[in-house]
Amino acid sequence: MVRFTVLASGSKGNSTVVSGGHTRILVDAGLSCRELFRRMKLAGEEPHTLDAIIVTHEHLDHIGGLAVTARKLGIPVCFTQATHRAWMRWITPRRHMTYAQWVEQCRQQAAARQAEALAAAVECECDEPEADSVAGSATATAQAGASDQNAAAEPRPDPAWLPSVQYFESGRPFQIGDITVSPFTIPHDAADPVGFVFHAEGVRMALATDLGYIPPNVKAQLKSVDLLFLESNHDLEMLRDGPYPWSVKQRVLSRVGHLSNEAAADFLETTYDGQAAYVILGHLSESNNLPDLARIAAERALSERPSLLANRLMLATQHEPLPPISF
Ligand SMILES: [Zn+2]
Ligand SMILES: [Zn+2]
Repeated sequence: MVRFTVLASGSKGNSTVVSGGHTRILVDAGLSCRELFRRMKLAGEEPHTLDAIIVTHEHLDHIGGLAVTARKLGIPVCFTQATHRAWMRWITPRRHMTYAQWVEQCRQQAAARQAEALAAAVECECDEPEADSVAGSATATAQAGASDQNAAAEPRPDPAWLPSVQYFESGRPFQIGDITVSPFTIPHDAADPVGFVFHAEGVRMALATDLGYIPPNVKAQLKSVDLLFLESNHDLEMLRDGPYPWSVKQRVLSRVGHLSNEAAADFLETTYDGQAAYVILGHLSESNNLPDLARIAAERALSERPSLLANRLMLATQHEPLPPISF
């Protein structure tokens, strides 16, 4: 059976489970491991059956729980090489820090990771403690200088350690078990951001969020899909009048920012081929959008085209999973 389950969508965390044949993929891990597991169970998905995690881009709302979840489950993480590098830069200390700043950052990261790992271990019913921490690394190095005795007590000191990393390239489809994954480039202010089309058992599902606009290559990918998960981030008026500083508003509105309700609706009205049984709107801003505004804009766009009445419109939310969509 093919299934698409949005666990969370929005600027505080994004994650979706795609299942097909005997394979299950977690797309982005933007929530803590504990919360991901809780939501998967709520939605009837079993975390321990996941085969891989695949990452769209390195922004925190897509990778916040990545390392802990991958380690907990012992599964590979699929990135583009540039996204992996950007993620490593984010998770490891910056070189230009002073030693005192670095030690302080290590201490804070270690405390945060330890708290998350402890919480995750309880919730995930996993006996294995989360051993990764930058501060652990510093301690191990310092101790190794004096004596090798304690070095063996730090099995995985590298905070960027993952059980396995697999690279893919935008524009080159690849296989994860029974699912064919086609990554495509999206315009967004990250190192090498991508959207995906997943293909399993004759069903095609497209995921395109975090994009400043819809360029021709993305339009081409969103054709002939049975499920379309599309960003509808902000209402233009709400964003203009809203609480963000002007610099942030500029970023969101830019060609590498986020897709507005109006731009999503314009795509649905003028370019979309109407093939999808389900259209899911996602990555809605909590500050600059209202679910009703996003829904009305998309409904109006679809209703302009009477032949598309079969399209079922859904809204993904930040705080609870959507019911799984099965084919
Ligand atoms: Zn995002
Ligand atoms: Zn992003």
